[in-house]
Amino acid sequence: MRVDTLWGMSTKRIVIVGGVAGGMSAATRLRRLMEDAEIVVLERSGYVSFANCGLPYYVGGVIEKRRALLLQTPASLAARFALDVRVRHEVTAIDAAAQLVTVRDIAAGTTYELPYDELVLSPGARPVRPPIPGIERALSMRDIEDTDAMYAAVQGSPASAVVVGGGFIGVEVAENLCHRGIPTTIVEAMPQLMGPLDPEIAWVLTERLRANGVQVRLGTQVTAIGADDVTLSDGNRLPADLVVAAIGVKPDTTLAQAAGLTIGPRGGIAVDDELRTTTAHIWAVGDAVEKTDALDGANVLVPLANTANRQGRLVADLIAGRPGRARRVHATAIVGAFGMAAASTGWSEKRLRAAGRAYEAIHIHPRSHAGYYPGGETVTLKLLFDPATDEILGAQGVGLDGVDKRIDVIATALTAGIGASALADLELSYSPQYGSAKDPINMLGFVAENVRTGLAPLVQWHEVAERQAAGATVLDVRTRAEYAAGAIPGAVNIPIDELRSRLDEVPGGELIIHCQVGVRGHVAAQILAAHGRVAPNLTGGYRTWAAGMAAQGT
Ligand code: FAD
Repeated sequence: MRVDTLWGMSTKRIVIVGGVAGGMSAATRLRRLMEDAEIVVLERSGYVSFANCGLPYYVGGVIEKRRALLLQTPASLAARFALDVRVRHEVTAIDAAAQLVTVRDIAAGTTYELPYDELVLSPGARPVRPPIPGIERALSMRDIEDTDAMYAAVQGSPASAVVVGGGFIGVEVAENLCHRGIPTTIVEAMPQLMGPLDPEIAWVLTERLRANGVQVRLGTQVTAIGADDVTLSDGNRLPADLVVAAIGVKPDTTLAQAAGLTIGPRGGIAVDDELRTTTAHIWAVGDAVEKTDALDGANVLVPLANTANRQGRLVADLIAGRPGRARRVHATAIVGAFGMAAASTGWSEKRLRAAGRAYEAIHIHPRSHAGYYPGGETVTLKLLFDPATDEILGAQGVGLDGVDKRIDVIATALTAGIGASALADLELSYSPQYGSAKDPINMLGFVAENVRTGLAPLVQWHEVAERQAAGATVLDVRTRAEYAAGAIPGAVNIPIDELRSRLDEVPGGELIIHCQVGVRGHVAAQILAAHGRVAPNLTGGYRTWAAGMAAQGT
């Protein structure tokens, strides 16, 4: 223990690098646990404890006051928590053997050394800035200074904007530029927005953006940024008074690497499950560190606020001698745009397929609350589970209402180890303005149980064409009007209410049954099964199939 004194007592000095999500959670929890510790927070930018997640909404004018983003100041943190918070102080080196950091006081232009007993690194993640010609002109969004620059650019009423990258931050920034009346295009190199989602789910959000005026170019890269335009990989040019780079983030490991700390296989600081780095007395948390995936135990990068805050609190407990273990991550996340939410937890179908993992996928499209009560919206939910063990592997949702609640329930089930079929038994709150007596979560459980027990085999939207090519016939049990408005090529239409009397018209051979969202298809499949014709139901029905085909550009 250091022998420096604070208020005349022997104290331990804990130095924290980075004063936002992870760093400030650690600092305040440490103070609550260790009243006599000296806690110094060093932050390179001019602000601490600011609301990163609110930054796009200030640019868009949804959050009107800049001060609303600034949750604390060095003065308020000193008053409440007796923290020594030094903004515009950058840690430039760590001498692990001597247990001291070198600090540059940016305002004063001076450098000093600060010894520590324990060092916590929470330097976050940096925006990726690929070497595209002209990238210097592109704005990024990481901190208050970046946000001030983007806010100022928006005040100049740019005639056009291009957002490079269609992930969380790209979508949020595009929505907010649109709120400012700036014609905005998202250019995304992948064939879909929001990489963690499966294509048929991401497509629904893409259409919402387009319907609200955001142009979306998928499968296209920005190859050069000019003075007032960008050049695309397809040779086209787009006007771009304002360019925003939202290509993703990577762990900020400059300091850690220079100090000889081990960097993990994914490029983040390696920590054990007590958040210790490979060097004694140095701990690390947040976006800069690698986490452990809850499903397969692999190292992953999950740059999300919940985990950063949780790790910040935990590292304080561990330094204070309290027991704890970093939890494994499901990467539960949500993004909103123009009133629509898209959320996910656990693995996507893409990822499961790439890993060769056995899974079943269920799609449902129920109302967010009881259909008879006004204001309900369709909520599209997808559940992925292991048909052999019933283990939930992941879930996604998209819609105008009720998505957050359902994904959070499934995230809770994942953490608790509740099986897919057991979702049927969750006792969830209900009155007609909030849910249904059979909540969409219960419905997922019903379907999972039907699938697992072999009562109701399913077919996926992306398997239909292949099965048709192998000789299967699609039986569409929707109404004539629905069929006329758009149908799967080659489908035969026998409306569900006529099926029992027209059984002799059902084509022979392998069948695929479908309706609009899957419910009538299930009823039809059971009628046919009672007559000896076992056939899979298209999960999510025509609605999911159409979204999937559109997402594929088919
Ligand atoms: P940060 O909060 O980024 O803090 C790191 C700090 O360390 C920075 O302020 C940096 O200046 C400082 N620093 C770095 N190196 C040094 C050094 N050498 N010396 C001194 N200081 C240093 N997550 C969600 O879950 N939901 C959201 O809706 C969401 N929206 C977001 C929107 C935006 C625009 C951004 C940028 C992020 C968003 N995130 C969101 C991610 C979330 O903000 C991060 O996961 C979280 O802030 C990470 O916490 P952290 O402590 O690891 O890093």
